[in-house]
Amino acid sequence: MSQKTIYKCDRCGKEKEDDHQFLRRLAIERPDAWRATAPKGYIDTPVAVSWCQECYFALGLIKPWSGYPEIPNNPPSPTMEELLREMLREIVREEMPQC
Ligand SMILES: [Zn+2]
Repeated sequence: MSQKTIYKCDRCGKEKEDDHQFLRRLAIERPDAWRATAPKGYIDTPVAVSWCQECYFALGLIKPWSGYPEIPNNPPSPTMEELLREMLREIVREEMPQC
């Protein structure tokens, strides 16, 4: 039996087959102060999303390397506040899909 792996971006939904380089994982750990007040028995895991390279480029988190195909209509780089808001929105959506 053979298997095919499909990778999907948590931000834009773009899919790609059998290319583990397509996605990059972004994880944010909770601060120690939050852990100290967490309910007993709570298992702390880092909050993580996986975004494709184009999403990282679009948000200015990483710059396309030389030779990478130009991204059409690339918007201007967002501010740090916009980046943090976007990341937090993605994380909240991941943890609480009903919101
Ligand atoms: Zn994406």
